[in-house]
Amino acid sequence: MTADVDATVLAGAPLAAEIREGVRKRVALLRERGIVPGLSIVTVGEPPSGNPYVRSKCRAAEEVGARARVTRLAPDVSESTLRATLREISADRSVHGVILQLPIPAPLRDEQHLEDIDPEKDVDGIHPLNVGRWVNGLTAHRPATPLGIVELLHRHAGDLAGKHAVVVGRSRIVGRPLSVFLSERTRGMNATVTLCHSETRDLASYTTRADVLIVAMGRRRAIGAAEVRPGAIVIDVGIHPVEHPVPGGPKYEGDVDYEAVRRVASAITPVPGGVGPLTVAMLLSNLADAAERSAGPAATS
Ligand code: NDP
Repeated sequence: MTADVDATVLAGAPLAAEIREGVRKRVALLRERGIVPGLSIVTVGEPPSGNPYVRSKCRAAEEVGARARVTRLAPDVSESTLRATLREISADRSVHGVILQLPIPAPLRDEQHLEDIDPEKDVDGIHPLNVGRWVNGLTAHRPATPLGIVELLHRHAGDLAGKHAVVVGRSRIVGRPLSVFLSERTRGMNATVTLCHSETRDLASYTTRADVLIVAMGRRRAIGAAEVRPGAIVIDVGIHPVEHPVPGGPKYEGDVDYEAVRRVASAITPVPGGVGPLTVAMLLSNLADAAERSAGPAATS
């Protein structure tokens, strides 16, 4: 099939590079005051080959001048050991950001252990105290992926006031917070939001009415051209390794069928290179916020 017009590609990397450069400068100022922002990630049952998301967070932190370290716990770690580990790391003054890499294996429960992290150091923005604060429009760490998507929409989608944003997926770290941020009574937001999930009946009846469609389902190529309103802005959060990659071909794909949807959408994020780089950049920004808050105001001469 040929297309009359292809969608604008919303590359996240240039915006992410700008944000990271801003963070690098903030970290340099902190270092001048003797403070090196520290990120500490706790993983449970990480495979011997490592976790690529964890690696990329550590590398990105080090690139902006922060310190990063990973504490790897066995898959059968007890609840009490995980709790003690998170509390001990949270109490370490050289650590400004603590991440419990999710998901953690059952019978451990995310919600129980997120409370073991100091909310000031919860750079993922999902401690119940932070969630309560951002739901109420108060200053708090906010989850990085939705923050990155909001930045991208600010830059490329104009004012969302009155527009219909459909979010597919209600996860703790992506869909649910994004639905809150998009509907906030703040400049550029004020969208009318529909939040869909696996129990939504006739998903396409919602997605085809979206001015802005954000897909965070964790289902490879689940959204095709027939599920998208012509002219919509499509943000694809999903990321999956291609099952049978061909040499020189793409290695990853998203929750959206990119080749089909780019022919009906007005703008679309690529996978990889769309939302992913922004997630990491916003995480670094949260880390810089945490380190600056713990350092207090710089002395003026
Ligand atoms: P989760 O698996 O936690 O949540 C998926 C959501 O999609 C759930 O709310 C689920 O509904 C919903 N869902 C699943 N199937 C359907 C369906 N058929 N119809 C409608 N809704 C459905 O995923 P995450 O939010 O953590 O991640 C989503 C994707 O984004 C993954 O591919 C992940 O790898 C990727 N990701 C990418 C990031 C990035 O930086 N690029 C960051 C974070 C995630 P229910 O709640 O009813 O189960």
